[in-house]
Amino acid sequence: MCPDCFLNEFTQFESEKSFEEFMEIMKSKKSIIHIGEVPDDYGKPVLSLFGFHLYGSKTKRGYSVFKCQSCSQKWKLDAPDYAWRGFFLKLEEGPAGSVI
Ligand SMILES: [Zn+2]
Repeated sequence: MCPDCFLNEFTQFESEKSFEEFMEIMKSKKSIIHIGEVPDDYGKPVLSLFGFHLYGSKTKRGYSVFKCQSCSQKWKLDAPDYAWRGFFLKLEEGPAGSVI
């Protein structure tokens, strides 16, 4: 286990406060650096109603990618957003390192 990484994955953040506490820990971990972004993939507009455009659900959520400089473990972070509770998970490399 790498001492510079997070010991636990967060499948969701229980509250705004838990996310703030997480970010404090993140800031204190100097070995973990931000290396990129994977953008959202929005669905096409499905309905126009009273001038508002309602969008279909995203097929893929965007996330930020971080990397531990000590052990090269990559992590993906998505911040909470209203009902969405976010996550912080290990990012496993895809075939031929295609992830990110
Ligand atoms: Zn590490």
